[in-house]
Amino acid sequence: MCGIIGIAGQHDVFPELHAGLLALQHRGQDAAGIVTFNNTFKMKKGLGLVSTVFAERHVPRLAGPMGLGHVRYATQGSNEELDAQPMAVNYPLGVAMVHNGNVTNFGQLRRSLYQENHRLVQTTCDVELILYALAAELETKNLSRISVDEIFECVAAVQRKVQGAYSVIAMIANVGMVAFTDPRGIRPMVMGQRFDDEGPAYIFASETNVFDYLGFERLRDVQAGEAVFVDMERQVHTRICERAKPAFCVFEYIYFALEDSVLHGRTVAGERVRMSRPLAATFAKSGLAPDIVIDVPSSAYFFASGMAESLEAPYRRGLVKNPHMGRSFINPTQEARERTVRQKLNPIKDVIAGKKIAVVDDSIVRGTTARHLVRMLKDAGAAEVYFVSASPPFVHPCVYGIDMSIKREMIAANYSVKQIARYMGADAVVYQQLEDLQALYSDLPCCFACFSGVYPTELSDRDLEELEQERVCSKNK
Ligand code: SF4
Repeated sequence: MCGIIGIAGQHDVFPELHAGLLALQHRGQDAAGIVTFNNTFKMKKGLGLVSTVFAERHVPRLAGPMGLGHVRYATQGSNEELDAQPMAVNYPLGVAMVHNGNVTNFGQLRRSLYQENHRLVQTTCDVELILYALAAELETKNLSRISVDEIFECVAAVQRKVQGAYSVIAMIANVGMVAFTDPRGIRPMVMGQRFDDEGPAYIFASETNVFDYLGFERLRDVQAGEAVFVDMERQVHTRICERAKPAFCVFEYIYFALEDSVLHGRTVAGERVRMSRPLAATFAKSGLAPDIVIDVPSSAYFFASGMAESLEAPYRRGLVKNPHMGRSFINPTQEARERTVRQKLNPIKDVIAGKKIAVVDDSIVRGTTARHLVRMLKDAGAAEVYFVSASPPFVHPCVYGIDMSIKREMIAANYSVKQIARYMGADAVVYQQLEDLQALYSDLPCCFACFSGVYPTELSDRDLEELEQERVCSKNK
């Protein structure tokens, strides 16, 4: 999962790209980068948080009315500066690019780019593949007078070649900015507009929260398989280039996106409240009766408060999150992971002691965090702890850019719910039912593959094995 932003504006966009990346920081903390265009590309990127990569001295150097930004969460590829985005090429035209997602035919594409286009992919980051694939298509056109139709033809050819999930924003030097998604629109991308004194400005981003901060009005989501091209005069051209059955990642609503963002016209907070209703019904069927409902901060707030409302049990804030505790970059052992949880979260003993607690989290992946939380709550005096997951059990790897793709690490893929409760030391474990989640999205075609095993793109068992192997290798680098 990554965060991307692109602005085709009227004046220097670097300060806005920087502010936008800060608003998207929750989508990736491993690396950050910005590229702007003003006759040439100017780029700055590095490992770490947005606040550590950029300094005031970069403002004049990165001046330009058009630019892209990226925050990276390493999934495919290693976490090295070489893999940080944006990436750019200067032949046949200057093209710079950012992307969010995961290419599932990486090896095959890398070989064909080398054999057919003599382009050597140097990183393990899949944006390089998409960049070279687009550059190779552009090379087939008369670049001195490339038309809008030809740009869309190039995007369509890339969409046919590149398998997987991707939202991409590219700048083509002296031509314009083009944003496109894979034919199923698995990863999010929204588009906004603002009228400055000098004329219109356009923005593309992973989430709409960025628009609010920067004063852009949300226009719409970029549709599955669509390309939106903004030319140098800020004229907008759109086309559905390659379309398959849409499959938007439902986990965006559960975990990735911030509560104030609007994706496909739905506020993330509102979706979490909607999901809390069937979750509460499932919980009620178990016959359990909590004294209070608490959340694991901060993504589970709307699940917990909504569930408490349905159950007519009080919602309380039982865990405090240390806002200054950053993400631990290297957590090689279970002990280290548990230590990180302990440093991040602290129970409020007066709220917890003597109570039967339903503690709600967005999901359970390995179960190590949940186990530590249960122990923490029991140490704080909880009489009973019921662990509630707003997601159905994760039983299949995500191959579309989410860092949970090793099946042997998924507790629900290997143990029953009773065994999981025993492992955690919880008095009960309750999961959202997959059928309930699917029923909630009967009007928005979504991907549920990590819960159902039904992948929206073509994937052979061999592809799945290779992707899992790549993920294991990346983690061990
Ligand atoms: S497999 Fe799961 S996390 Fe991955 S895109 Fe589909 S719903 Fe999202």
